[in-house]
Amino acid sequence: MAILKDIASLRQWRQSLRGTLALVPTMGNLHDGHLALVKLAATRAEQVLVSIYVNPLQFGPREDFANYPRTLDRDLQRLQEAGCQTVFTPDDGLMYPRGRQDISVVMPPHSLSTVLCGASRPGHFVGVCTVLNKLLHMASPEILILGEKDYQQLRIVQQIVADLNLNVQVLPGPLQRETDGLAYSSRNTFLSLAERQVAPLLAATLFDLARRSISGADVPGLAAAGRERLEQAGFLPDYLELRDGQSLRAVTAPQPDARWFAAARLGQTRLIDNVIVP
Ligand code: AMP
Repeated sequence: MAILKDIASLRQWRQSLRGTLALVPTMGNLHDGHLALVKLAATRAEQVLVSIYVNPLQFGPREDFANYPRTLDRDLQRLQEAGCQTVFTPDDGLMYPRGRQDISVVMPPHSLSTVLCGASRPGHFVGVCTVLNKLLHMASPEILILGEKDYQQLRIVQQIVADLNLNVQVLPGPLQRETDGLAYSSRNTFLSLAERQVAPLLAATLFDLARRSISGADVPGLAAAGRERLEQAGFLPDYLELRDGQSLRAVTAPQPDARWFAAARLGQTRLIDNVIVP
């Protein structure tokens, strides 16, 4: 497996490539959700590039950037076992050579980026869009694979690609879950044993709300009951909302392509999840 660490070798590799390239951007601490995206990439493109970079620009000052799990050796081993051929592992000096103050950034649309996680993590999506724009320019993939786990991120990036005429096809990968329903996440490693037992309730609540979101359902009432259930189990919900899957506007009645979105803190760990209304 080739491990590329600088832009010159990435570009040289890219120029010598035959066939289409799919990029799977990650922040590492890889789990089966990431590996499913790598497998999906291999079915859609002749070449797959996985990037591993914990992007400081998308973390707020009081967030977990310093503690974010960094497990590069294990990640590389997992990628090798999964048949991945090429990995890009830039560092901060390569990505932000002038530091992170006063740099050019990519500004996502207000309506998509100031709700849900954007409301509680100001600047987060500017950081995400900026680093993705840089990775796209460095690697020039034909296909960009993003997971539906971060559904708001996916919608924002789809919109940025359209608005800025970026020459890449965004391919969503389905959200992957553990057998008890908990969405795979790099942050799950922060959960204590007791919290890990409680954590699947987030997904269970969303699936329950989705099932009960039939026509005529009292959506605010459902949301309030869901919040209470989570709070009683020890979660600190950030949001629990039904929104349109395209515009991400709040909807007060079930409609096609509506999704329940949740973010909640369990101890020190912030978990997010979403479930489409069937
Ligand atoms: P991250 O390393 O958390 O930045 O995630 C890298 C990519 O993996 C993003 O496109 C995520 O949406 C995706 N991803 C993370 N967890 C999952 C999951 N449980 N199922 C599917 N995709 C995921």
